[in-house]
Amino acid sequence: MIDSSKPVVEDNEENRQLCRKYCTNCQNYKHHSLEKYQPTELFCSRGQSSATSMKIIGCFCPACELFTKHHLRGGYFCVRR
Ligand code: SF4
Ligand code: SF4
Repeated sequence: MIDSSKPVVEDNEENRQLCRKYCTNCQNYKHHSLEKYQPTELFCSRGQSSATSMKIIGCFCPACELFTKHHLRGGYFCVRR
């Protein structure tokens, strides 16, 4: 369910670039080669990765400025939203 009081993370190039600073460097991303699956980044906006059977290791989302700005919780948006 979407809480309309919270601004959602917009899917734009600026945010994708921000995301790449974190997601593409995290253990989970590297271990599962998430660049090979869609979406390749900005999972908090675009939805979870289509990669399956992921272990969940070392999410960097809590360090991301979009995580703070949008009051996101939990991280591991590539695994679940
Ligand atoms: S919160 Fe996570 S998925 Fe969202 S932009 Fe930041 S690093 Fe990427
Ligand atoms: S959402 Fe978290 S665990 Fe997934 S790739 Fe981004 S930083 Fe890594």
